[in-house]
Amino acid sequence: MTAKILDGLKIRDEMFAELKIEVTQLTAQGVRPGLAAVLVGENPASQMYVKSKVAACEQLGMASWLHTPPPNATTEYMLQLAEDLNRDDNVDGILVQLPLPAQIDSKRVLEAVSPAKDVDGFHPVNMGRLVSNRPGLVACTPAGCMEILRRNKIAVEGANAVVLGRSDIVGKPMALLLLHANATVTICHSKSRELPEIIRRADILVAAIGRAGFVQANWIKAGAAVIDVGTNKVTEAADAERLLKNFPARLDKFRAKGSVLIGDVHPDAVNTAGALTPVPGGVGPMTITMLMSNTVKAAKLRRGSKEVRK
Ligand code: NAP
Repeated sequence: MTAKILDGLKIRDEMFAELKIEVTQLTAQGVRPGLAAVLVGENPASQMYVKSKVAACEQLGMASWLHTPPPNATTEYMLQLAEDLNRDDNVDGILVQLPLPAQIDSKRVLEAVSPAKDVDGFHPVNMGRLVSNRPGLVACTPAGCMEILRRNKIAVEGANAVVLGRSDIVGKPMALLLLHANATVTICHSKSRELPEIIRRADILVAAIGRAGFVQANWIKAGAAVIDVGTNKVTEAADAERLLKNFPARLDKFRAKGSVLIGDVHPDAVNTAGALTPVPGGVGPMTITMLMSNTVKAAKLRRGSKEVRK
């Protein structure tokens, strides 16, 4: 069996087209959704992420602002910035790019962001709303995984879902979203025993642990839907040869480039799963898409439009 590929780029394009129409309508009503991004320091990956988030806002006709406090900014400076952005009525979403430099108390800064503008869904108030299944802003990556399932008509109700990983930003909210969609959810982590047996029972597997190719193809139930959140850069030739031995074209690319992105699920799972998100091109594009979607949702919730996006 070869798995159906769950194409995140295609869903991103669909959702961008939908969001663009919504942004145009809101702007005509005098509510132009806007995202303020805060980037501290010169981490190249963070710079790249923020740049693509700002570019996505522009593509959708949304307003965006980039704040770049100095690398030695203090917690107090960041708290004041969060307060200023909370008060600015044009700003619907505030994105604080992580990681922040070590001298800044990240948790205090994230908690200083108004829950109404917390488009990353990290604020304890939004986490609490998610726990109690009340409307709020949900973390982008797990929300994107649900959108992949929904748009591919993968039945969640009654399914055995296994979430591998229990981080605050992926694993925990993912498990709650699946639970609220009436799946029977098992959460696994680094202390879980007999992982292969647990995973073999999964109709839906979400892997978010940060270990290249950790989930073996023969752990996956035939026909299961596999959402691979992991994005691991593999640079060792021996690892690439082992993981990509059945994918000569990808191996050739690795040899030319010196690195390859591999998910948490072994690439051979394409022969056991029923449906599978590719890495790259699966969950990755959905994260930024849900950030845009959350910003539009925040604008509507906060500035009073009645048609709140689900
Ligand atoms: P994280 O905060 O490091 O959490 C990793 C989780 O995996 C922890 O709960 C840990 O268990 C568990 N874990 C680690 N090794 C394990 C093992 N051998 N067996 C079972 N569980 C294990 O990571 P994260 O932020 O959730 O991210 C996970 C992955 O998703 C990373 O590859 C990251 O790059 C990727 N990611 C991708 C996107 C995207 O847009 N595509 C977004 C976010 C994250 P303990 O709790 O016991 O330590």
